Amino acid sequence: MRAQKNYGRLPNQATEKRAKGSVPIKPEMRGAKMRRRDDNELEKLAWQLRGELGLANVYRLDGMTLLTRLKATFKGFNYRRVHDGSLGSAEAQYDSAERCISITESTLGSLSDFEVDHSRGARALFTLAHEVSHFVLKHDGRLNRAFERAAYEKASAKYRALETDADSFAACLLAPMRLIDPLWPVETIQRKFGISRRAAEIRLGEKQREQRFLEGKKRPLPAGVREFLREMKQKGYDIQADLDGNE
Ligand SMILES: [Zn+2]
Repeated sequence: MRAQKNYGRLPNQATEKRAKGSVPIKPEMRGAKMRRRDDNELEKLAWQLRGELGLANVYRLDGMTLLTRLKATFKGFNYRRVHDGSLGSAEAQYDSAERCISITESTLGSLSDFEVDHSRGARALFTLAHEVSHFVLKHDGRLNRAFERAAYEKASAKYRALETDADSFAACLLAPMRLIDPLWPVETIQRKFGISRRAAEIRLGEKQREQRFLEGKKRPLPAGVREFLREMKQKGYDIQADLDGNE
């Protein structure tokens, strides 16, 4: 198998949709052991997915567009509208055996509620993005998204890990780091990406941390740290840092 610089793999794709010059994404080996991805990988995979769907630079994703493009791009993927209450207390569900997202009528309806009620729209969009994440991350099983999770679900560490990863990936997909300006107020991020206030706060915090990290790399080390490292160097430790920088 050819080595591929890839951030994990997206699910099997319908090949005829491939844009000229783009890197083919190989089908995942069946039965391959699932590996959890770190935040950075999730971010990159989400960005890759947006690209594949032709939604790279769209701020607020439209739920229906997301579903129809997924269906057009990924072989076997499907979605269906179901009556409210037919998923129990869940608003949506992903079934890996069918590669299908079931979504309740009221949740589908709320996807277009942004102008009327931002939080209702944001909640529906996040629910959808969460189920999409289960598909993209190739989680196994029939995974519900309910307002209140059952106690037995909370008890399972494996289930919690899947849910946490799906939430993280959903946030990356809805509000990619690359599209966030660290100087924007929380309200702007909320509105631009169609996410909740809490999600916007978290994404902004992450963006600002990333920004500080990038700026920090260019900044010389503080005098105290330089002094410490100089001493370590004199003692024979292999110190690579620039110890002559000015503050
Ligand atoms: Zn879930």
